[in-house]
Amino acid sequence: MLKVMQVSKIYEGNIAFRALTDINLTIETGEFVGIMGPSGSGKTTLLNMIATIDEPTTGEIFINGKNPHLLKKEDLAKFRRQELGFVFQEFNLLHTLTVEENIVLPLTLDGKKVKEMKEKAKIIAEKLGIQEIMKKRTYEISGGQAQRAAVARAMIHHPKLVLADEPTGNLDSKSSKDVMEMLESINKKDFTTMMLVTHDPLAASYCNRVVFIRDGRFFSEIHRGDNRQTFFQKIIDTLSLMGGNAHDLSSIRV
Ligand code: ADP
Ligand code: MG
Repeated sequence: MLKVMQVSKIYEGNIAFRALTDINLTIETGEFVGIMGPSGSGKTTLLNMIATIDEPTTGEIFINGKNPHLLKKEDLAKFRRQELGFVFQEFNLLHTLTVEENIVLPLTLDGKKVKEMKEKAKIIAEKLGIQEIMKKRTYEISGGQAQRAAVARAMIHHPKLVLADEPTGNLDSKSSKDVMEMLESINKKDFTTMMLVTHDPLAASYCNRVVFIRDGRFFSEIHRGDNRQTFFQKIIDTLSLMGGNAHDLSSIRV
């Protein structure tokens, strides 16, 4: 589903900054993979390159066998709309619209009929259990509800790959749990492939596998198995192991 091959990223600027070095990552269809690492370790950089928001300096990325970085501008826009779903820390909902209008926004961009959009919104709302907030405006709902609405919007196109960057970053622990349970159930029921970038061990414990990066390099990876509690503890242990000799932002200048 996703193949990241020998990807490195150098941010050019007055002082060039090496954010990622030789990252290799394969995610199979239906997997739910977490990417963890200290702040500044390159998690968002990696996600942005997979999301085609940014380009690798060297190395290649394949999504469903295609290298989206080689697509022309219009084809890329279509590829992103049809194949990818995005969820961010800031919910990125439009405040002048209702939850329902926000959820169908991607369909509006495709020029779909109102009736068809309403039907699709209804189906997804029922599936995700957010019927009661569909007519509300974004300022009338909680952060947890807003993020669930954002997940519904990301799912309206039935994307093959969902990319989430710190989706629980602005949420309390109860809402985090709700959002993660929602993502987990979408992953299980629809077999949607998911990649979650987070520094929250609880959120990461919902993944099947967690890949750790430090200072822009692969550090280690662990698998969940049956027990989420045990996995949660393993994640905490790995993080403290990483923290042990990782000085924040020990950046390599090039
Ligand atoms: P994370 O998401 O793990 O916290 P990021 O991927 O955002 O880390 O950042 C990795 C490193 O790259 C950081 O040191 C950050 O300062 C640097 N960085 C991120 N974006 C840019 C940019 N546009 N220009 C220069 N440096 C950047
Ligand atoms: Mg980040």
